[in-house]
Amino acid sequence: MTEKNSIPKKIILFGPPGSGKGTLTELIKKILPEIFHISTGDILRENLSRNTPLGLNAKVYMDKGELVPDEIVINMVKERLEREDVKDNGYILDGFPRNIEQARALTEITRADIFIHMVIDKDIVIKRILGRYSCPHCGKIYNKYSLNPKYEGICDDCGSEIEFKQRSDDKEETILNRMDVFEQNAKPILEYYSTMGILRKSDATRTLELTREEIEGLIDL
Ligand code: AMP
Repeated sequence: MTEKNSIPKKIILFGPPGSGKGTLTELIKKILPEIFHISTGDILRENLSRNTPLGLNAKVYMDKGELVPDEIVINMVKERLEREDVKDNGYILDGFPRNIEQARALTEITRADIFIHMVIDKDIVIKRILGRYSCPHCGKIYNKYSLNPKYEGICDDCGSEIEFKQRSDDKEETILNRMDVFEQNAKPILEYYSTMGILRKSDATRTLELTREEIEGLIDL
């Protein structure tokens, strides 16, 4: 590793729901296994499944496809970003920031050095989300249109023989609202990171085809 490569990467993945932020994260983690994946959606869902006050508070908003109040989400992210192991190994932020206030709050906590805008057509992501389901045991994500398990009812990754589940907010009405919320907030966020000079774009229809060199290029390795 060169001197430059050993600096912990601070990456933001930005794209509409269903643009494949989780998939790109998996690919980056193959190259940088130590990097922390911080997904605000995952943290909120995990809190919800444990019925914590945070989860119960967030549920009302998540069920409607609206943003959970900034105060809740910013504190949740801040707490993670300030951990020593995250500082040492870098992070991939997935699902945060979602509006300009969150972007500004993030800069106060930590200065990201790579902002990847995953560009994709709205109709494609809606179809993707409607087909999305996952293994409740290990979280592996499948899609009924493009990626089903090799053997029906058995997870490719963890081997569980299990009934797969769909996210409760992956329903058409909620999805349309989530897309609207994304579009309303995207422009100022993109301008903010463009001015900061760290914005780059990735064609999210071909994330699975990206070569290792292309991924390394995206994250400045
Ligand atoms: P995601 O898994 O990123 O699609 O997030 C699922 C839901 O969690 C969103 O529709 C929001 O209700 C909530 N959420 C996730 N991240 C944020 C955030 N940064 N700010 C506010 N709400 C969020």
